Amino acid sequence: MRRPFVAGNWKMNLTRDESTALASEIVSAVGSGGNCDVAVCPPNVYLHAVAEATKGSSVGVGAQNVYHEVSGAFTGETSTEMIKDVGATYVILGHSERRNILGESNEDVNKKLHAVLAAGLTPIVCVGELLEEREAGRTIDVIKEQFTGSFANISAEQLGKCVIAYEPVWAIGTGKVATPEQAEEVHANLRSIMTEAFDASTAESVRIQYGGSVKPDNAAELLGQPNIDGALVGGAALKADSFVAIIKAAG
Ligand code: PEP
Repeated sequence: MRRPFVAGNWKMNLTRDESTALASEIVSAVGSGGNCDVAVCPPNVYLHAVAEATKGSSVGVGAQNVYHEVSGAFTGETSTEMIKDVGATYVILGHSERRNILGESNEDVNKKLHAVLAAGLTPIVCVGELLEEREAGRTIDVIKEQFTGSFANISAEQLGKCVIAYEPVWAIGTGKVATPEQAEEVHANLRSIMTEAFDASTAESVRIQYGGSVKPDNAAELLGQPNIDGALVGGAALKADSFVAIIKAAG
């Protein structure tokens, strides 16, 4: 039985005060935790403040990105140890904005994934097709390619420690949500891809979040699908009431 997991990706939004206030509101609403794991992913500069605001609660904190090297002359980058040091336990990897705006490749994601697992952090690895790829009937091929490249040289044991987020790029921040059937089809395919590349029991254990315009009014139906194990939430994670409503729909 996979425990649902809802994470909020705050992207490059909010001030420090807004971040800590939002984190505190979420902590109060979620309490000691229900049937759903919860995490918030603020910008790196606010990780420490948000980790302090959520300390002792069931709300986890994640970074939105990391660099694969341990330390050194990598101006502007942040290492896994730095992220751990300020209290985060999750890292989002390969978000479509990093892939499509900042040019991250599957190979980059793979290097980061190895670094994150070596540091004992939990990765949330994002995959998802562009609108033109869906329209060309290439969705499953694209997902397979991204999965295979991102998880190269990863063991089954390591895969078991990962979370995957299926985020169709055309649904992110657009208000165009995938139908539960469209999302479920990709999630079920991802599980088959994992079974083929690894084994069935590991594939069954990995949580696959859906992301792309998840809102309180569509969350229950999406999260009710057999292979959808939670959500990675952007816009609706910036307000406590909508984020908490999605958490309630999951758990
Ligand atoms: C995201 O950024 O991961 C996301 C899913 O955004 P939104 O919920 O706003 O579509």
